[in-house]
Amino acid sequence: MSQLLLNHLAGRSQAGSGAGTPLLDPVLGTELARVDATGLDLAAGFAFAREQAGPALRALTYAQRGALLAAVVKVLQANRDAYYEISTANSGTVKNDTAIDVDGGIYTLGTYAKLGESLGERRHLLDGEAARLGKDPAFQSQHLMVPTRGVALFINAFNFPGWGLWEKAGPALLSGVPVIVKPATATAWLTQRMVQDVVAAGVLPAGALSVVCGSSAGLLDPLQPFDVVSFTGSAETAAIIRSHPAVTHGSVRVNIEADSINSALLLPGEAAGSEAFELLVKEAAREMTQKSGQKCTAIRRIFVPEALYGAAAGAIAARLAKTTVGNPRNESVRMGSLVSRAQLASVREGLAALKQHTEVLHDGAGQAPVDADPAVACCVGPTLLGARDADGNALVHDLEVFGPVATLLPYRDAAHAFALVRRGQGSLVASLYGSDAAALGSAALELADSHGRVHVVSPEVAALHTGHGNVMPQSLHGGPGRAGGGEELGGVRALNFYHRRAAVQAATAVLAHLN
Ligand code: NAP
Repeated sequence: MSQLLLNHLAGRSQAGSGAGTPLLDPVLGTELARVDATGLDLAAGFAFAREQAGPALRALTYAQRGALLAAVVKVLQANRDAYYEISTANSGTVKNDTAIDVDGGIYTLGTYAKLGESLGERRHLLDGEAARLGKDPAFQSQHLMVPTRGVALFINAFNFPGWGLWEKAGPALLSGVPVIVKPATATAWLTQRMVQDVVAAGVLPAGALSVVCGSSAGLLDPLQPFDVVSFTGSAETAAIIRSHPAVTHGSVRVNIEADSINSALLLPGEAAGSEAFELLVKEAAREMTQKSGQKCTAIRRIFVPEALYGAAAGAIAARLAKTTVGNPRNESVRMGSLVSRAQLASVREGLAALKQHTEVLHDGAGQAPVDADPAVACCVGPTLLGARDADGNALVHDLEVFGPVATLLPYRDAAHAFALVRRGQGSLVASLYGSDAAALGSAALELADSHGRVHVVSPEVAALHTGHGNVMPQSLHGGPGRAGGGEELGGVRALNFYHRRAAVQAATAVLAHLN
């Protein structure tokens, strides 16, 4: 039997008492390891983090906690080769896709390490200026942000086992809040290994970083009012979390990042073959194939002026046709596999549903994988769909196929395009392509209320822009409505979730001591 990966809870390694759930190589079908959380004393583990690690972290200043994050970055960098191997084996990713998860996670953590340094030798943050409460300025109200005295529970999705941990843990640990992560089972190995390495290096206070792998049964039960939960995954599981008594009665703060039907929009007035047109084509093809389309931020709907529908279809399809799919260990392969047979089945099912309402502009679904057995490997080529009637087609605005699939949709004019984009009911990101700065600016404003991020690509930033789907720690990640309503990252804004805001009303002389 393969190795059983250990949980790390209550400051020590702990094995579950059950047989465990196997983690598989999605390309070769072989068993890699097992995870199990049966019989763990979760309440004791949460209490240990809350009572031992919390005070130890909060005794430090932001600058000192930033230094801890920098030490974690060093540990991760030292073990980077092992993470690449685990990612290829357990997630089926090619090197470039592994980099987004592994190096993207390390970069994000490094960004928060530097932010800690800039926040300096303080243990809480002032929120704005003191405000007079009456005519006499001697009695004022000062708002403060103080770290919450609880734990941060992360329940993560399968697609970013590395980055998904560190983009949340960076802000939490910098805030002085201990972390307990429960990775998605299918790809848990990378998260487990990273936590194990950091714990073994002894760079964090005992209990500051814990990992529970396997079933989520009972995971929310030990939560107490000052704990927080950050969830990434499906809307269905989000609803279960939102209705747990710890949330409904204990007011445990919850952040939800759920699914999203993100858009790319070529603004009116751009000709086929123009620079903006080519930038849209390139980005659409890249977003569809990066991480085999398993990115919550990936472009799912591509909007173009109706006169450009055919030209855009041809140009995107031509790029997709060059994508070699298969075993990520083969140097010629550009796109690896999906993470599991369950995901493959789900993508096939979603594609079949969308195909009933769309035409197929490029069909990669039946593409034979390179260097892999099609009966075993969870590989699927990219498929571009199209629907000439963007208004009458409800499903393309509603169904997220979590794989290399997107739909091209024509629009009549700008107002029509904005209305169609909004049918996503709130998304993580929309990207805009054009060359008229004024038109791009007003389109960005128009879509800002329904998106966490608007990514604007114009010719002058062709070589500079960071990519539609790439989540940068400096910018907000999250989205309203069906995207979950959450907010992560955005530089120092990420710390808000792990702090409590309070107003202190006092004499000016007292307020002077809050600094
Ligand atoms: P999921 O089934 O909701 O799983 C997400 C996590 O929740 C996993 O760790 C899972 O554990 C856990 N979980 C399942 N049932 C639970 C329960 N009853 N109580 C507590 N935890 C529970 O989601 P998925 O299908 O794996 O993930 C794909 C979805 O995530 C996509 O729709 C994608 O759009 C979304 N996503 C969003 C973002 C974002 O940042 N907005 C990022 C990535 C993915 P097990 O694995 O053990 O079941």
